Amino acid sequence: MSFPVTKTIKDAIRADIGQSVTFVMEGTEVPCSSCLVSGYYDSVNNVSLDQFCPTCSGNYWITNDSNAIIVSHVRWITGEQSDFGIAGDIKQGDCIVTVDIDSLSEEQIANVKHVLIDDKKLEIFRTIKRGVPERDRYRFTLREV
Ligand SMILES: [Zn+2]
Repeated sequence: MSFPVTKTIKDAIRADIGQSVTFVMEGTEVPCSSCLVSGYYDSVNNVSLDQFCPTCSGNYWITNDSNAIIVSHVRWITGEQSDFGIAGDIKQGDCIVTVDIDSLSEEQIANVKHVLIDDKKLEIFRTIKRGVPERDRYRFTLREV
């Protein structure tokens, strides 16, 4: 006997095992590697001497994004769950992601540019610390961008 795998069951399994979510954070500025080795640093103007550099476009400084891939509990918000508040049917977010509080530092959260889930790009709309009695997880409300 085989059981039909419905979406509900798949969602339940996913909720139990978690899902890898990529948090893309703004990294620190580093010198352009090709301008650095060529010595093209204009220290007076803090730019590259090679304004046509294909790597940095003459900026000299490059900000590398850093990724944190974290197993999270992901719950997509369907249209029926919209918040019927005073202003009417306002969607509060597209997705709620819960992660262990040790997965990300507050500094990392502050630097999150966007979040990637299932090839979708989302932005953090609200961050809440949850857990009783200890705050042991973050709950992010995300909006698709
Ligand atoms: Zn360069």
